[in-house]
Amino acid sequence: MPDAVRACIVSLDGTIIGENRIALPPGDGPVAPIIKAVKRSMRSALGAAARKLLGVGVAVGGMVDTNQGSIVAMNLAPSLDGYPLADELGREFGLPVRLDHHPRAQLVGDRWFGKGRGAAQFAVIYTGEVLGGAFYFDGHLYRGVNGAGGELGHTFVQIGGELCRCGRRDCWDTIATLSWLRRDAQVAGLPDAGETDSGALKRLVVAGDSRAAELADRYAHNIAVGIANVQQTLAPTHYIMHGDVVLGGAQMIEAIATHVRRLVPSRPGLNIEISAGEAGDRAAHLGAAGLVLSDLLQLSL
Ligand SMILES: [Zn+2]
Repeated sequence: MPDAVRACIVSLDGTIIGENRIALPPGDGPVAPIIKAVKRSMRSALGAAARKLLGVGVAVGGMVDTNQGSIVAMNLAPSLDGYPLADELGREFGLPVRLDHHPRAQLVGDRWFGKGRGAAQFAVIYTGEVLGGAFYFDGHLYRGVNGAGGELGHTFVQIGGELCRCGRRDCWDTIATLSWLRRDAQVAGLPDAGETDSGALKRLVVAGDSRAAELADRYAHNIAVGIANVQQTLAPTHYIMHGDVVLGGAQMIEAIATHVRRLVPSRPGLNIEISAGEAGDRAAHLGAAGLVLSDLLQLSL
């Protein structure tokens, strides 16, 4: 992620050990200290490895080229744009390295260990500082050419809307990430607006704050707009939500589902399902390891 790196060891039975988090230096500064921090986090996790490692899986919160194993662009850490991370880590640790888009790693985690088990198709939507998604269709993870798919945050939801961090206008990212939520929390006069998230909003709603309730519903609607576009285009129909919105609990997930169902024309036999994945990193960690295992076992994902 643009702000921090988290590393761990995943055993073959899906146990996570040695997990750590190291804050990254400014993402617009020199790249060397950023990579140094990534390696430090990995080395710290490696200390917990009792056995030989099979490989390294990396879930990147930015655009990736899965064939090259490089970061294409990370809007909040532009120093990493174009960085050949898989090559660099492979040289350093002498292991095969598999790099993929963060929501796709979460999808692999869900497909092997979570709510996607046994499903023929589903989508993962990640919300937080950034927005992204991943698709599982007819028993296969769908990446698009060189991993270019899933950049949902920069699909367009508005004409004449705001400037996005990617330099374009009107992106879904401008109305459905934490930056939007915090700015509108400020406008609404909510406490600690600059730090707010779906969890804080939920606590205010429970305490009877009507401004928080209105904002939470608007946030749910803005997230639903992008999901409705995905549904109309590809109809994965089952969506597993990860990241910030999970902190909002069942109420937030249900609010998103209600808005999506309202935005998508109904069809007999089509029941759109939105469920909660994880607010934390477990699915991404399991999925990143899953990417390595799939390669080693030459499994189709
Ligand atoms: Zn954008």
